[in-house]
Amino acid sequence: MLKDNFGRRIKNLRISVTQRCNLDCIYCHREGNKASGQEIGIADACDISSYNSEMTTEEIVRIVKISAGCGISRVKITGGEPMLRKDIEEIIRGISNISSIGEVSMTTNAAIDADWNKLKNAGLKRVNVSLDTLDGEKYAGLISSKIPVEKIIKNIKKARGVFDVVKLNMVVMNGINENEICDMFVFSKDNKIILQLIELIDSDKEFFSKYFYDLSGVEKELEDRADRIITRKFMQNRKKYVLSDAEVEVVHPMHNTEFCKNCTRMRITSDGKFKPCLMRNNNLIDFLTPMRAGAGDEKLKELFIEAVGRREPYFCD
Ligand code: SAM
Repeated sequence: MLKDNFGRRIKNLRISVTQRCNLDCIYCHREGNKASGQEIGIADACDISSYNSEMTTEEIVRIVKISAGCGISRVKITGGEPMLRKDIEEIIRGISNISSIGEVSMTTNAAIDADWNKLKNAGLKRVNVSLDTLDGEKYAGLISSKIPVEKIIKNIKKARGVFDVVKLNMVVMNGINENEICDMFVFSKDNKIILQLIELIDSDKEFFSKYFYDLSGVEKELEDRADRIITRKFMQNRKKYVLSDAEVEVVHPMHNTEFCKNCTRMRITSDGKFKPCLMRNNNLIDFLTPMRAGAGDEKLKELFIEAVGRREPYFCD
């Protein structure tokens, strides 16, 4: 299995299949593709015009197959909003048909009514749904469209009816929804969903300094109440707190050297670039241009290996 220069094995692929989104949440980092040019956070503005050149299903499946040959065994499909791709079912099927890929999951805002059964039959194993509040008014303030929160809640419940594992991604923001952690916990517990509390990642300095909420206090409380704490080894050593009647995961990537030290992820942008780190945009490797120019699998594999060689922890001791 491939290791980077810091001894980190590369096991997971997070692949953005589109930059288009139907919600455009006010805090969104766009998987690190947001142009900001800030000192800290998503650095080095990227080429927004490239949002138009999405990979085709075949290109996505081919690059995942090549990555799988280098040790990738788990794939998370993301966006933008991945459900905006009309071919999302084919993408899932193509990736999950690759024999060494053990798990295909997807993160979605669930604003589009999905046929979850079809996606499951195509090979999707797990779903993360992003929802930061249960309050309709607050939800409307976080997104740029008029989709009611009730629709998302209904779709989450439908997804849970089909998938054994559904996670609710809640980005916790100071003065916005930090007072709703308890409500989200109860909602998740009642619906047998795993609650994933996510600390805000800096993609806009002003927004970040205003709304960042430190989850250490919540984590301490979870630690005290948990029957069991699982360290997710290949997931940046994230902690999963198993309580008697619920499960909660906490993700806090900012200024967390442990998180970076245990990162096993390669990213792929929707316009066909390997992206070694969420927080950097100055080390991407374009594979789509050579692929479209006729490059063979060996050449594309070399580019994957080169991208792995460019990985370095963003936050380090
Ligand atoms: N549209 C899909 C969705 O909503 O899940 C996929 C893309 S979205 C960028 C993936 C995840 O990133 C969501 O759970 C979202 O909440 C999270 N996210 C986006 N911006 C973030 C930020 N600034 N800090 C922390 N998490 C963020």
